[in-house]
Amino acid sequence: MEKHPENPGRILVLVNNLSRQGFTVEHVSRRVDVEEARRTAARVHAKGYIQYLERLSRNKYSVIDEDTYLTEDSMELAYTTFQTSYELALSLAEPVFYVSRPPGHHAGKGGKAMRAPSQGFCLLNNAAAAVLGFKDRGFNRIAVMDFDVHHGNGTMEIFYDKRILQVDLHQHPDTLYPFTGYSFEIGAGEGYGFKANLVFNPFTGDDVYLRVLNMVHELLEQYNPGALVVSAGFDGFLNDGLADLRLTEASYAALGRLIRSLGTHTLVILEGGYSVGLTRGVEAFLHGLNGREVSYEVSKTISVARGKEILKVNEKTILKIKEKALGRGG
Ligand SMILES: [Zn+2]
Repeated sequence: MEKHPENPGRILVLVNNLSRQGFTVEHVSRRVDVEEARRTAARVHAKGYIQYLERLSRNKYSVIDEDTYLTEDSMELAYTTFQTSYELALSLAEPVFYVSRPPGHHAGKGGKAMRAPSQGFCLLNNAAAAVLGFKDRGFNRIAVMDFDVHHGNGTMEIFYDKRILQVDLHQHPDTLYPFTGYSFEIGAGEGYGFKANLVFNPFTGDDVYLRVLNMVHELLEQYNPGALVVSAGFDGFLNDGLADLRLTEASYAALGRLIRSLGTHTLVILEGGYSVGLTRGVEAFLHGLNGREVSYEVSKTISVARGKEILKVNEKTILKIKEKALGRGG
């Protein structure tokens, strides 16, 4: 059987590399109270969906869809990651990068989210749990930034009509799973104008990505969130394997710097990243987050014309969000 890209080895690759590079990695081994985790999960997900997952987890191995599998230990792990995300948001004093699996950002209220064909390796939505944690702590202005190369359709669905500012940077939905997250999707009801779907064509390099990050920085700075949840995926890294962007260290270091400069309560949760992104991408990101200046080369977008076009599209989206979420103009 071919190895599934989302497997326990991912965490080892990431952690071993960080230890080699001299980072301090704190191992947290804990058992969460399943009853409590189930109660928290019921605030995010449909009851029937949770029961369905628990039913499946009684088998040794179950397949949910073409991408997503579950073993007899999966639910305990999913609850642990989910509940820990919630509790970290409740208590953290300084930015925490929570290295965990399984990822969560594709899991919507009832599993598959928006129009996605599968739930992309995800069971429970950890980022949504963190948002709840910050809410329960009394924060009103909460932002979510998702820089996994795939659209965070689960998180987007869960908060689509809520006043949570969501900025999601991903490869264009015409060209990549989950095929959701178009620029025109900017939220509904109370959440209208609070959802920025920023899209990138295949072969986008650091040059274009960094310019969009500058705009994101300005938006988040002006919004001034009391708390920030980051869905950190490193699968946009050149040749990480599942997508077609050409991002390198320069972009991930800039993402880290951006988060640091906001100086707000921040929980960063690992989403995707399957090979080189987990080493070179994570390392550069942490240098940025720790305020360490390292200079990196900037990769170029293939097709300058398409790069310019996509810059315009994203600029328009951000202007719209500024108008609505920051109450500028009409
Ligand atoms: Zn991803």
